[in-house]
Amino acid sequence: MEHIVTARKWRPIRFDEVIGQEHITQTLKNAVSFNRIHHAYLFTGPRGVGKTTTARILARAVNCENQTDAEPCNKCESCTSILEGRSLDVIEIDGASNNSVDDIRTLRENAKYPPIKGRFKIYIIDEVHMLSTSAFNALLKILEEPPKHLIFIFATTEPFKVLPTIVSRCQRFDFHRMEINTIVKQISKIANAENIEIDEMSLFTIAKKADGSMRDAQSIFDQFVTSSGKKIHFENVKELLHIIDLDFFFKVSTAYHQRNPRLAFEISEDLTKNGYDYGEFITGLLEHFRNIYYVKILQNAENLDFPKIYKKKYMDEAGKFNTKDLVRVMNLIASFEQQFKFSTMPRIRLELLLTQIIEMPSVVDIEELIKEIRKLRLCSQDFSQNQFLTEKETEKPTKRINTELKALFPKWSEFLDKYNSTLNGLKSFYLSHLVEVEFRQKEIILIAGNDFVYENLKSKKRAIGVAIKEFFGNDFEFQLIQSEKILENQNADTLIEDTSLRTNVQNQSLNQNQSNSVEKAILDLFKAREIPLP
Ligand SMILES: [Zn+2]
Repeated sequence: MEHIVTARKWRPIRFDEVIGQEHITQTLKNAVSFNRIHHAYLFTGPRGVGKTTTARILARAVNCENQTDAEPCNKCESCTSILEGRSLDVIEIDGASNNSVDDIRTLRENAKYPPIKGRFKIYIIDEVHMLSTSAFNALLKILEEPPKHLIFIFATTEPFKVLPTIVSRCQRFDFHRMEINTIVKQISKIANAENIEIDEMSLFTIAKKADGSMRDAQSIFDQFVTSSGKKIHFENVKELLHIIDLDFFFKVSTAYHQRNPRLAFEISEDLTKNGYDYGEFITGLLEHFRNIYYVKILQNAENLDFPKIYKKKYMDEAGKFNTKDLVRVMNLIASFEQQFKFSTMPRIRLELLLTQIIEMPSVVDIEELIKEIRKLRLCSQDFSQNQFLTEKETEKPTKRINTELKALFPKWSEFLDKYNSTLNGLKSFYLSHLVEVEFRQKEIILIAGNDFVYENLKSKKRAIGVAIKEFFGNDFEFQLIQSEKILENQNADTLIEDTSLRTNVQNQSLNQNQSNSVEKAILDLFKAREIPLP
């Protein structure tokens, strides 16, 4: 049995079968229905999207003997002769090889004669932009006063190369690039009809490789059928097209989260072993981070051209990044891509890029930062205004106090009185609201309202500790923290009962030096570190 390539076998023969160009086929059908056929059409668009196919359908429709619903019957003598390429009324010319003025003159001579059988004589000129200027001028003559029986259909991938005087005499139709999903659907349909098993990832890979062209997609599909037979799996597709596995790119983002530069070398080793092109990898990597960014911004992975499983992976990945970091990573890769072309040691350069990405410090949005600082300020005002831990507490502090511990408050005044001389300052700080006290289970927390108070009490830490144990009991512990610290926890909605966090807070405050407290708070707040300016 003669083997027919998929593109030919599945070529649409009716307007309704043309995929992804409904905006054009519907208009043409209307034109046929209402007998409003123009004498010249210009079909533009990328290759393999159905320009010539549509031109042929139009040619058959206008000449069909049993035309119904503006569609050609594809059975009558006129239709079959056109389908078989033996019609004398439909002439297909390849503009690339018949582009001289003589060719067009001959065409002009022949065009004068009426059609032999059908109503119209139709010239389909493919790649019309390849015509020479003189040929265009010769063509223009005929377009200026076209005989009634004549229809020109010009097809081109480069409409801007067609003389404007020609374009202005045509009805122009712009064919769209095929969307990945359209191609996926169509190839899947073909595979089904041909009893060929193909997995989702392979379908998407074919569609992407086809770059918007259905014809290319069908050719690639044929190639796989030839090599893999009735079962097409991504493993074979990957090998045949020598495609870099998406997992390579996900490995880079994992390395970024883990801050694991070791993975940079593993990735470069794997790429080299598999013989992948580094440049292609870098381009793919940029696309990968773009996809994460896209999903992050839109909070949706629906429009990503990947199978569901990868859409989910991108959603997860987006949740782990902040947008500023993504833009920085993309910028780094993009600028690297340029330099990479001229690099003499590509592998080392690649490893350098990967290491830079992996070790890139995370940044904080300046607006977020300002917001947080404002919040901190407001809170700290709020904090000092509150009659913290007294009977008149406002709602917020009330929540934070365990009522069972309230009984200890009267004792606190007693304590201050008793130790006033040894702990000189603590009582006056407390009375002027410069220090607050909080009781927890067997723990007393002193919250210093400002740096001065904090440093002052820090120098008396030992003495306070001894006094507390003496007065409240040996099992009582005490902590000294700064008010920003406790507010930070409050902002983060951290439960006050969280002992581990409390311990952290304590350690952090103990280790702090005398530098600006807001700056410190910011660094802690965002778990950040300072990046020296270049
Ligand atoms: Zn027909």
